[in-house]
Amino acid sequence: MLVKENKFSFPSFAAARLIDTHAHLNFKEFGKDRSQAIKRAFEGGVEKIINVGTNLKGSKDSVSLAEKYKNILASVSLHPIDVEDEKFDKKVWLELAKHQKVVAIGETGFDFFHRSDKEKQKEVFKALIEIACQVEKPLIIHSREADKEILDILSHSKLPSKRGVIHCFGRDYNVAKKFLELGFLISYTGNITYNIERASSVLKVPLEKIMVETDCPFMAPLPFRGKRNEPLFVKYVAKEIAKIKNITFEEAAKITTKNARKLFGL
Ligand SMILES: [Zn+2]
Repeated sequence: MLVKENKFSFPSFAAARLIDTHAHLNFKEFGKDRSQAIKRAFEGGVEKIINVGTNLKGSKDSVSLAEKYKNILASVSLHPIDVEDEKFDKKVWLELAKHQKVVAIGETGFDFFHRSDKEKQKEVFKALIEIACQVEKPLIIHSREADKEILDILSHSKLPSKRGVIHCFGRDYNVAKKFLELGFLISYTGNITYNIERASSVLKVPLEKIMVETDCPFMAPLPFRGKRNEPLFVKYVAKEIAKIKNITFEEAAKITTKNARKLFGL
C-alpha cells in the first residue's frame, strides 16, 4: 500500500541516494560485519561513503577500503586526539593525500575536550592545511571546545579553494555563521536528533551549505542512540533536517547529496 503524503517517512529512500560524508568503517566496531554494513548502506539508498582515517594506519586502511569499493572514498589525517601517539611525517602524509581516491584531508583541527596539548595539535593542523592546499582537496574539520582557536587558524591560513566542512556540528548559528563566512560547509550527524540545542543552527544554515554524515560507529541517531551507528542510518539525519526545515525528505536528500558531490568532486 502506498503511504499517503507523509513527508517524514521514507517512501522512496532506496532511490534517495544519500552520501554519508563521514564514516569510520575501518574501526574495530565493524570487525565482524564490515562488508554487510557496507552492503546494507548501498542497498538502502546510500550512494557513496567517505571513510575518514584518524591516524596513519587508519588512513591507509581507509585508502584500502576505497580501493576495494568503487563508491567508498577516503579522507586521510592524524586526528587531534591522536597527535600525542604518533610522529607526524609531512612527506608520508603528502604522498598519501595524493592518492586518487583520497577526496579530503581530515579530520583535523583541535580537540581541547579530550586533549590539552595545544602546540602539538596546532603543528599538525597547520601542516595538514598546507597539504590540503598542495593537493587541492577540501578539509574536514574537527572542532571540540575549540571554535575560536580554529577560526583563528583558518582565517590566517592559505586554504584549499573549496575550503571544506565543519563536521558533526552542534553549536549555535552564530558559530556556524563564522565558518560559513570563511567558505566552509556544515555537516550534521545523528546527534541533532538528541536535543534541540544541537540542532538549533539547522534552521538558519542554508540547505545549500549542509551535508549529512553518520560519524559511525559513534553518534547513532534516534531511535538507535547508544547503539553502534552505521552508514545506512544517515537517512535519519537527512530526515531530521527535512523535519526542521519543513521540506520533504527527498529534497533534503537531493540537495545535501548535491553539496557533497560538489565539495568532494564526486
Ligand atoms: Zn569522525
